[in-house]
Amino acid sequence: MKKALVIIVLLILVGCEAATPSAQTPPDMPADPVPGEEQELEEETQFEEEKEPTEEDIIGAVDLSLQPNELGEIMILMYHGIGQEESTWQRSVDNFRKDLEYMYQNGYRMISLNDYARGEINTEAGFTPIILTFDDGRQNNFNLIEKNGEMVLDPDCAVGILEEFKERYPDFNVTASFFLGSNPFGQEKYVEDKLKWLVENGYDIGNHTYSHEKIEDLGPEQIQIEIGLINKIIHEYLPEYTVETLALPHGSNPKEDYIEYMLEGEYEGNKYRIIASLDVGWRPAYSPFDILTNFNSLYRVTASEINVDGCGMWDYFKQFEQNKRERFISDGNPDLVTIPKRHEDYLNMDMVGDRLVYIYE
Ligand SMILES: [Zn+2]
Repeated sequence: MKKALVIIVLLILVGCEAATPSAQTPPDMPADPVPGEEQELEEETQFEEEKEPTEEDIIGAVDLSLQPNELGEIMILMYHGIGQEESTWQRSVDNFRKDLEYMYQNGYRMISLNDYARGEINTEAGFTPIILTFDDGRQNNFNLIEKNGEMVLDPDCAVGILEEFKERYPDFNVTASFFLGSNPFGQEKYVEDKLKWLVENGYDIGNHTYSHEKIEDLGPEQIQIEIGLINKIIHEYLPEYTVETLALPHGSNPKEDYIEYMLEGEYEGNKYRIIASLDVGWRPAYSPFDILTNFNSLYRVTASEINVDGCGMWDYFKQFEQNKRERFISDGNPDLVTIPKRHEDYLNMDMVGDRLVYIYE
């Protein structure tokens, strides 16, 4: 990929060089480049094109001093409300800012859940991916307030705070998934504006089912209605957007025989396919390349400090810091999976697909 980019840049430069002198050349001088010169440039370009990076080049570019470990764990954080007071299902605005500041300063960079589910990890070398999710589509996730007769983003709602960090730390790669029910973000008048704005600004929308029932109590038909109704609502506002992630209400999983209806189904003639389905607790997720990862029931970590029984985000931040758990550390190349040899047996080659694998001791 990088090589292709180099070639394009080279061609543009060649183009500019040829154009500039011709504009300034006096009338008695030939405006076109000397034929011999042109040929030389062409040959050079062809040479560049043929020189694909070898496996050795790609592997040689990995900085082992960063101890890349693409079978380490990734936290999928579960937030609900963001508000002035901290409670079991609400993170305070101050604490949410504290969480984000800690993540940025301690080597975490955000990725989308959708990218995780595809194993597309674009995280900079040496950094750990982290995923933010918000359940229930509360108004305090995305709130508009009136200011000088105009509706503007509330700086203390979840999106307002995320945007603040996006501006402060462009390399944080701010993104999040919002799991919506039948009433996305309150403020009925602005649902369409909000959903469009989210997708246009690099956020994702997921399904949290229509009635928020425990999915274990539902049959095949009901499962498809619960998922399909939400997709229908979102599709009305965002005809181009495909919802492919699901947060299970109450962390309740479907009966074994009905999992297939959660993963693929149809409602009123519209089909859906879920590539990542999220549980409620209680530990970091495995790497997408780990054979232990179950995309039908992914672990999440509660993004709170109360009622977390030692399994909250700050407990795991500490454990990673103290090397009591191994976190995913990116090699910086999304087309390469770099792992320490001790984890070799856990590599899921189906998920690795066409990517190169680099195992080091
Ligand atoms: Zn919920």
